[in-house]
Amino acid sequence: MKNNQPHSRTYTGASKANTTQTYSQTKRPSRKKTKYARLVFAYCLFIVCSVLALGGGVYLLYRTGVFGSNSQSEETTLLTGVSSSETSGEASAIIPEDTTAATEATTTTLPSDLHGFYVILDPGHGGWDRGTSYPYNSDQNEEPTITIKIAEKLKPELESRGAKVYLTRTEDNYYSLYYRLATTHLICMDIAKEKGILPFSADREQQLRTKLEEIKNINSDKFSSGGMGFMAGTGVGDDLKDLFEMEYKLTDVVFMSIHLNAHYDEKTFEPVNHHGIEVTYVTDDAVNTYEGNPKNQTSGAPVRDAYHGRPNEHNLLYCQTLYDTITAKIPELKSNMEKPVYTANWAVIRKTGLVGTLLEFGFISHETDRAILTNDTSLQTLCSATADGIEEYFKQIR
Ligand SMILES: [Zn+2]
Repeated sequence: MKNNQPHSRTYTGASKANTTQTYSQTKRPSRKKTKYARLVFAYCLFIVCSVLALGGGVYLLYRTGVFGSNSQSEETTLLTGVSSSETSGEASAIIPEDTTAATEATTTTLPSDLHGFYVILDPGHGGWDRGTSYPYNSDQNEEPTITIKIAEKLKPELESRGAKVYLTRTEDNYYSLYYRLATTHLICMDIAKEKGILPFSADREQQLRTKLEEIKNINSDKFSSGGMGFMAGTGVGDDLKDLFEMEYKLTDVVFMSIHLNAHYDEKTFEPVNHHGIEVTYVTDDAVNTYEGNPKNQTSGAPVRDAYHGRPNEHNLLYCQTLYDTITAKIPELKSNMEKPVYTANWAVIRKTGLVGTLLEFGFISHETDRAILTNDTSLQTLCSATADGIEEYFKQIR
């Protein structure tokens, strides 16, 4: 709407001024000259009219789409690419297929590929752990079904750009947080080995692999049963320290745990108006503050000294870049929360040394977010924007 106003008004004013000036300058010529001038004037008028008529015809053909473009698609691209944050309602949140033009425009400004980079995707929940849903506590629009869909679309998107991608789960089964962490550490050992920078002797490597496989085999939701293995407790023991030190050097690897948000009124279970993506990360300070609080310590688990050495600045850069890139492409997913990029002590990012995030891809309780998360085309655009964000992060740290 705001693009409609200015053109015709400016045009009319300039045209009137020119006509008046030309007329006043042609006073009192001789008769012969007058006839000649009339002929010249008529000829010029004919030329000008012809040019105007031809221009008008070409413009009309252009507006009606004869040349393969039309005003409708231009407006759609403009709306979805630049100003659709001003729109609201479910229908407008479904990102139309026409946005491919805008998508390509964004992509071409980014690095051309992700060759040599690794991404570990962790689709949240699964099995008996249904996460969140809409309506509240229902079996519709469930978090684990959508997080695996996002991972399944994001994986080929990243692979098509040259990245090597790993998933911590591919089925709708239950996998504990520590199963996912053990899987991630094992993947990192494989990557380090592939790159020739595994810092362990063969015996130490085997010892760590055995301990991590044990954690996977327990796959328990009950922390006290031993499902955490050497990752139990606060601070970092020798095993986890060795893995952290190895992972700090894997600067071409990023981790992403994929989740959805929901917010319901505690009494009515009706949705609260929160929406948009949230991108969370850990820092040494945040972890140490969290773990230093006795309320957050697991009974019977080791309490160790505070640990420092996480890639704090890269974690923030990764998360802020993801937020900025995704919301630039999909303004509907701009958060209405005060701070959408923030530290949070999720175990799944706290217990690795990788640059990582737990990314909430929107509120399933909010109709605009839900329209995007439950539409295949929009989900594909969301995954493409997420891959753009990962590319942009690697571009910035190169
Ligand atoms: Zn979740």
